[in-house]
Amino acid sequence: MLAFSSLLRNAQKTSYAFLSRMITDIPVPRADPYGDCYHRNMVVEKTKKPKEKLPAEKLVFGQTFTDHMLEVDFEASKGWGAPKIVPFHNFDMSPATSSLHYAIQCFEGMKAYVNVNKGINLFRPEKNMDRLLLSCARLCIPAFDGTEMLECLKDLVRLDKDWIPDRRGYSLYIRPTVISTDATVGVSVPQKAKFFTILSPVGPYYKGGFAPVKLFADDFHVRACVGGSGKYKLGANYGPTIYHQRTAASYGAAQVLWLYGDQKFVSEAGTMNFFTLWVNEKGEKELITAPLDDGTILPGVVRDSVLTLCRQWGDFKVSERVYSIHELTKAVKEGRVIECFGSGTAAIVSPVNAILYQGVEYPIPLDPEDKSAGAGKLCQRVAQSIMDIQYGVVPSPWAVTL
Ligand SMILES: *Cc1c(COP(=O)(O)O)cnc(C)c1O
Repeated sequence: MLAFSSLLRNAQKTSYAFLSRMITDIPVPRADPYGDCYHRNMVVEKTKKPKEKLPAEKLVFGQTFTDHMLEVDFEASKGWGAPKIVPFHNFDMSPATSSLHYAIQCFEGMKAYVNVNKGINLFRPEKNMDRLLLSCARLCIPAFDGTEMLECLKDLVRLDKDWIPDRRGYSLYIRPTVISTDATVGVSVPQKAKFFTILSPVGPYYKGGFAPVKLFADDFHVRACVGGSGKYKLGANYGPTIYHQRTAASYGAAQVLWLYGDQKFVSEAGTMNFFTLWVNEKGEKELITAPLDDGTILPGVVRDSVLTLCRQWGDFKVSERVYSIHELTKAVKEGRVIECFGSGTAAIVSPVNAILYQGVEYPIPLDPEDKSAGAGKLCQRVAQSIMDIQYGVVPSPWAVTL
């Protein structure tokens, strides 16, 4: 058993080290690239001053944080240090810290749910760890062991579990983050870094049922480009989009529908992946979303889950391929669009009722049989199915119970 688990760990070590080399050519000179960052080395310091908890209905996304946080420091000479769970606290850092100047920062967004048996579920958390390691590699921050880090993260969630509102739709938002802590204004490979995770209890994205949104399809600005860093969850990809989000808001739209290239391929909606269910030019019912292969699309966990579920259901064709805003607006005019929605951890799915493109508003249908639903039939089915897994109503290997 022991031999097997160490074999497994070594196998993973090799693949992550290989991955980071493949992407950024980082030399990994240390004997153990993961240093002391193993769950067995975890140190826990509990808070002496637990905070007052807000009533669930008063929660505003991303504004309330729990009592504890997870921290692991990296230093080039020592590798990753021992993981620590400590009281939630501010950082003391040099104003020269390179992450403050060059956005040497990456993050994840995941959630913990109180399941129907009063246990705690995570949803496909290993995918977030894998993605965070890819983001780190893109920033020349050496890999840690994703499986070990996940075990540490689970301990943090267990310790602050009383903060998770016990109601369907409510959850604990988990924000793993990695920053360079190198005190230099030189643009260089970080010699010091910090992994940390903070937790924030959150209410449902839609309080009174779905609220469909209008999207502003921007025909000039881009979120990401081929050869760029858009497929990684780097803070640097988000700050510059707020300006365009505000422009979208000035047109009465909730989000930007990002287009890409001369042909104006449909890519993502705000910080969500984007899906269209339509009858394509060949007359086939098809769910379509942009492919991951050109590097402009963030590989969403919910995106993958929607694709997997829809392929299992087998009710229509499921395609990951490029399609342009012109094909989409033509399909709207011809009455071939059935529904459009965004996908992401925050909302699971976000229904769309209109797309504004070059001054023309294209109405997107919702549920034709139930005007009060506020979402298309597929959107509703996907939301229910994923929530049933997250809250443990339906057993699934995607739910990891703590
Ligand atoms: C985080 C994110 C998503 C959604 O990813 P999930 O893993 O499904 O939450 C989609 N697009 C962008 C740009 C993102 O940052």
